[in-house]
Amino acid sequence: MCRHVGYLGPAVSLAELLLEPEHSLLEQTWAPADMRGGGTINADGFGVGWYRADGSTARHRAAVPMWTDQSFRETAREVRSGAVVAAVRSATVGMPVVPGACAPFTDGSRLFSHNGRVTGWPDSVAKLAARLDVVDLLTLEAATDSALLWAVLRQRVLDGADPEVAVPELVGEVVAAAPDSRLNLLFSDGTRLVATTWTHSLWVRHEHGAVTVASEPFGARAGWREVPDRSLVVATVDDVELRPLEEMGER
Ligand code: GLN
Repeated sequence: MCRHVGYLGPAVSLAELLLEPEHSLLEQTWAPADMRGGGTINADGFGVGWYRADGSTARHRAAVPMWTDQSFRETAREVRSGAVVAAVRSATVGMPVVPGACAPFTDGSRLFSHNGRVTGWPDSVAKLAARLDVVDLLTLEAATDSALLWAVLRQRVLDGADPEVAVPELVGEVVAAAPDSRLNLLFSDGTRLVATTWTHSLWVRHEHGAVTVASEPFGARAGWREVPDRSLVVATVDDVELRPLEEMGER
């Protein structure tokens, strides 16, 4: 299953964060260490979203393996940011390999990634999809579970929902409709990372005024803490909070 990374802290280059460290996201493209639920490499595309100083986002994504995109490597050395969400993709069987399916998804000021799959797609979540307005459905970036999850979450956040509530609520709804789904979600508004673990790996490192959330630890091994399964992570540069999601899955 895909691998993702969220970072908040002092500005770093995208290369320092994603390409250069030992077991970097780049390395996790061809040699992930902890894939669960199918998939062996993450070569169906990748995406990197980062925040500019004014809080808006920029993004690079492509439906090719990250290691083949030489022009991204050049860009990554030049671009520096203090808030980043990036992902490498292993497409779920039956889902299209297109740029629009690559996380992070964005609405211009928020970034979102999903590591996992919705079982019984798309029938299992037809009711959830039916709550979207027609334009959101027609403009879905790709016919994938992750794009639908983002469309639903985006609408709720735009309607004023707090992501710390909306993200776990979405996990609860999807698990109720599609049990056995794998739902590691990662959301950022540029100052906060909101992430879930639901049957996939996730690690967090909080030190030197920086916080990193990642499917697999990279760089120096010290300081990484494994997030228990079925947790909600709310992280800022000042604080990392873990809350159990358990009750929600039993609704
Ligand atoms: N199901 C999603 C997709 O196909 C995410 C895939 C994954 O986590 N491997 O894009």
